[in-house]
Amino acid sequence: MAQAHFKVVVIGSGPAGYTAALYTARANLEPVLFEGLQTGGQLTTTTEVENFPGFPEGIDGNELVTLMRRQAERFGARMVPASIEKVDFSTKPLTLVADDGTEITADTVIVATGASARYLGAPGEDDYRGKGISGCATCDGAFFRNLPVAVVGGGDSACEEALFLTRFASKVYLIHRRGELRASKIMQERVMNHPKIEVLWNTVIEGYTGKELLDGVNLRDSVTQERRHLAVEGVFMGIGHTPNTKPFEGQLERDDKGYLRTVPGRTATAVPGVFACGDVQDSYYRQAITAAGSGCQAAIEAERYLTESEL
Ligand code: NAP
Repeated sequence: MAQAHFKVVVIGSGPAGYTAALYTARANLEPVLFEGLQTGGQLTTTTEVENFPGFPEGIDGNELVTLMRRQAERFGARMVPASIEKVDFSTKPLTLVADDGTEITADTVIVATGASARYLGAPGEDDYRGKGISGCATCDGAFFRNLPVAVVGGGDSACEEALFLTRFASKVYLIHRRGELRASKIMQERVMNHPKIEVLWNTVIEGYTGKELLDGVNLRDSVTQERRHLAVEGVFMGIGHTPNTKPFEGQLERDDKGYLRTVPGRTATAVPGVFACGDVQDSYYRQAITAAGSGCQAAIEAERYLTESEL
């Protein structure tokens, strides 16, 4: 990258990042956006998005972020296919280092790095990652055609993954640690009424079995303490997400859940000129539309900061 200094650097390419890039591009701030390892973010691992306003028939998650990206590019936002690995926010201008070693500086940084799927951490999990254990049903579901699979969790993500997997799998077990689902009523109803889905209540995974590939899970009923083995070829995690904050360790404050801390109701962090938006600072709503909204807030705050600082 020939140019080394930017007014606005956006880190992350989900709805928050693309919206921040769109707004700052339309404000003539010529933003550059580092797209990270998973271009498009979590929406690329989902199927149909039915609750993003403006799409009454629903829209494919990949298509939605592709449209957001194109809209930001139309106003001059520059997309860079690289990740930011390290930052130094203790000096002005702010310094960032990309994964290819390139060092750049910026007057403002908008952090929109989102969150990643969590894993249980049960014994043997690492051995079968990519060999039966997955964090993304839409990415890997098609490998399990006519095979029994399990989804772990009781929230909307787990229900959505279970429903998606019914397209391929012969049977889908939803393994949930409690006796009731956390998911929205509509998702609960879809899951409970689906003939291919069986919910295993009060059930925890204690370990995994298999040779080269996964062939089952060891389960414990948390009420009766009974143990049993369940034959499944795939296990999909649907137990929530961890915010992607690694490059900002020691640079930005985090809350007790590990999310970036911002001024309440705003996107400003404790470091002047650095803003955080989307799932990396939101453990509560975590929706595409709220992420896009906070990307807009971050862009407006960055713009005001630049004006007030006469940068
Ligand atoms: P979530 O609502 O936090 O649910 C996580 C689920 O995983 C919970 O059922 C939880 O069990 C379980 N869990 C967490 N840690 C576990 C562990 N160590 N072992 C076993 N189970 C564990 O997360 P989410 O489903 O990813 O949803 C996040 C947000 O996105 C929510 O606001 C949701 O509404 C939204 N979302 C919406 C849609 C949609 O509208 N279509 C789709 C996906 C997500 P407990 O219930 O016992 O805590």
